Amino acid sequence: TALLEIKDLHVHFPIKNGTFQKKTGEVKALNGVDLAVNKGEVLGIVGESGCGKSTLARSIVGLQKPTSGDILFNGEAYTDASAKEIYELRRNMQMVFQDPYTSLNPRMKVSESIAAPLKAYKQTKNLETRVKELMELVGLNPDMHYNRLPHEFSGGQRQRIGIARAIALEPKLIVCDEPVSALDVSVQAQVINLFQDLQKKLNLTYVFIAHDLSVINHIADRVAVMYLGKVMEKSNRETFQAHA
Ligand code: ADP
Ligand code: ADP
Repeated sequence: TALLEIKDLHVHFPIKNGTFQKKTGEVKALNGVDLAVNKGEVLGIVGESGCGKSTLARSIVGLQKPTSGDILFNGEAYTDASAKEIYELRRNMQMVFQDPYTSLNPRMKVSESIAAPLKAYKQTKNLETRVKELMELVGLNPDMHYNRLPHEFSGGQRQRIGIARAIALEPKLIVCDEPVSALDVSVQAQVINLFQDLQKKLNLTYVFIAHDLSVINHIADRVAVMYLGKVMEKSNRETFQAHA
């Protein structure tokens, strides 16, 4: 059964011009996307810049309201969900961004950044122990790193902080929006391995956006190719590798 289903999803943005910002047209960032993601699966999403990948990611986690269409989690549609319903949903659905530097508060210690989602969902029992456990899960050293600030870390380590934050609530689904694109190639492999490790340990399902085909080939079970706001092709990894 599908954990996540996307049906004929449209997201249109108005184009505004001139002094009075009159609407002169629209960008169809998503123009009828259909997708299903099964439990335990890694669905890779590829496509050139501007084809709608980020808009799709943001729509899935409720950061972008669709123009039309439906998104279902565990069979329940949340396209028109209220803020409170989105809050409930986000417990089970987290996002990892391309550049953790923009999603991490530069003045918050690592421990505070990782504790933030736990506090937001009132899971504060044994908070310090839990934060340290999460740090160890992502390969950070609690004794050394607990009180450090984001700027004291390398890009790869910062992404580890972002990942610890994303797994803190034990979500079912993680939407990864180019999580290794900003990293050195040598570090990319380490972070990809971490994603795969965590998937097994925590029974995670990923929607994994990447522009690098070797990354997708390594991690994805199936691949959806996007073009101009639509999914042009879906294939399993083997057929995709044969194409690429
Ligand atoms: P990708 O992640 O594949 O690069 P995006 O989802 O960021 O693509 O963008 C898809 C299209 O929607 C692009 O043409 C982009 O300029 C446009 N777009 C994205 N976000 C907005 C927005 N908030 N307002 C207007 N246009 C947007
Ligand atoms: P604050 O108390 O500053 O509002 P939040 O926990 O709400 O802190 O996070 C601030 C922003 O960072 C949120 O709007 C959210 O979009 C983003 N963010 C950071 N990490 C994640 C994550 N793992 N998943 C989803 N969103 C995240």
